[in-house]
Amino acid sequence: MTAPLVIIGTGLAGYNLAREFRKHDSETPLLLITADDGRSYSKPMLSTGFAMGKDADALGMLSAGQMAIQLNAEIRTHTRVTRLDPDNRRIWIGNEPVRYRDLVLAWGAQPVRVPLAGDAADAVFP
Ligand SMILES: Cc1cc2nc3c(=O)[nH]c(=O)nc-3n(C[C@H](O)[C@H](O)[C@H](O)COP(=O)(O)OP(=O)(O)OC[C@H]3O[C@@H](n4cnc5c(N)ncnc54)[C@H](O)[C@@H]3O)c2cc1C
Repeated sequence: MTAPLVIIGTGLAGYNLAREFRKHDSETPLLLITADDGRSYSKPMLSTGFAMGKDADALGMLSAGQMAIQLNAEIRTHTRVTRLDPDNRRIWIGNEPVRYRDLVLAWGAQPVRVPLAGDAADAVFP
């Protein structure tokens, strides 16, 4: 069996790449792995939603299951990739190796926390 295209991350980068990939290739197995629940949502909408008092359920657009159907993909949620092994075209989830044909790292980034002083510093979200 053909090893899948593996995408680590189901944020805007991971899901948008998967959608574009499927426009060109409906056959190759596609595996997305995410440390979170895999819901599709728009991060830029977080600030608007926060201001409007919306919760996570109201902001989520599609569940991981719905995304899997839409993308004809397997999506592993609440699963953290712990090691990359490019020499052997594998990634590791704990003790479990997963083969890939191609690998995309769409795992986001950590925001830079600007050092702020003042009595409202802990109310600033990066
Ligand atoms: C309020 C707000 C407004 C914004 N407005 C704009 C805007 O107007 N224009 C703009 O261009 N950008 C904007 N951005 C930024 C933009 O939304 C983000 O840059 C973008 O959503 C990041 O997407 P991503 O897929 O790269 O990362 P993320 O959404 O962070 O996704 C990372 C994924 O990787 C997974 N992951 C990480 N590590 C592992 C691991 N070891 N194993 C398995 N999975 C892992 C996570 O679970 C997650 O699924 C905004 C962001 C915010 C918060």
